[in-house]
Amino acid sequence: MFPFLTYSLYNTNDSGVSHLHVGGEKVELSDRQNKIIEIVKENGPITGEKIAEQLSLSRATLRPDLAILTMAGYLDARPRVGYFYTGKTGTELLTKKVKQYKVKEFQSVPVVVKENQSVYDAISAMFLGDVGTLFVVDEEGYLTGVLSRKDLLRASIGNQELNAVPVHIIMTRMPNITVCYANDLLIEAGKKLIDKQIDGLPVVKELKDGYQVIGRITKTNITKAFVELILDEQV
Ligand code: ADP
Repeated sequence: MFPFLTYSLYNTNDSGVSHLHVGGEKVELSDRQNKIIEIVKENGPITGEKIAEQLSLSRATLRPDLAILTMAGYLDARPRVGYFYTGKTGTELLTKKVKQYKVKEFQSVPVVVKENQSVYDAISAMFLGDVGTLFVVDEEGYLTGVLSRKDLLRASIGNQELNAVPVHIIMTRMPNITVCYANDLLIEAGKKLIDKQIDGLPVVKELKDGYQVIGRITKTNITKAFVELILDEQV
């Protein structure tokens, strides 16, 4: 019996050799699996029996390979029709998966301060919340600004009165705040971080009078998604 393996597609490298992740280990497609792909490319749709015949193997011997290739997305199987080549390279399959990642699946809890709180309070909130970006809200809870680590450092240099300076003096303020939405693609949020050269974005809900902050997307979230993509045990 074929042991149940969970794995994910790794990538297709320059030499065209494809890899799978099996139980977290990078595994190259076997010669037999590559041969199966070639047979199906040329002859598909083709039944499992016919593939087995061409390889002079039994259908049962081939079953695990066909299961792997189908689950990894190289081949597709239709009942009574057989296997056919999906025409997708490893890179295309990875791209497809990335395009399914939504901001809401990766967002973290936002840490917010009110605009009249002091720079000192904001620094404390940054440490206590273990974050690098704070969002600033007004009395009604609407987004009015963003505070980065360097904003707070800049305000602190040579300033002994950090308790006396409210954050609205030093924050980057609306309407110059780059935001994203829970249903956005994670890749779009990542692109905003790069284009604007910032570390984090508030995930917002648009209400009548402004933005309500419901989450936070940072470079860390994007890194997590990237690592998950490669180590994920399901395609
Ligand atoms: P740091 O300043 O610590 O390097 P960032 O690169 O995130 O961190 O911030 C750079 C500047 O951009 C800061 O002045 C910050 O207030 C501002 N900023 C950070 N995030 C945003 C955002 N989502 N929208 C607009 N401005 C932002």
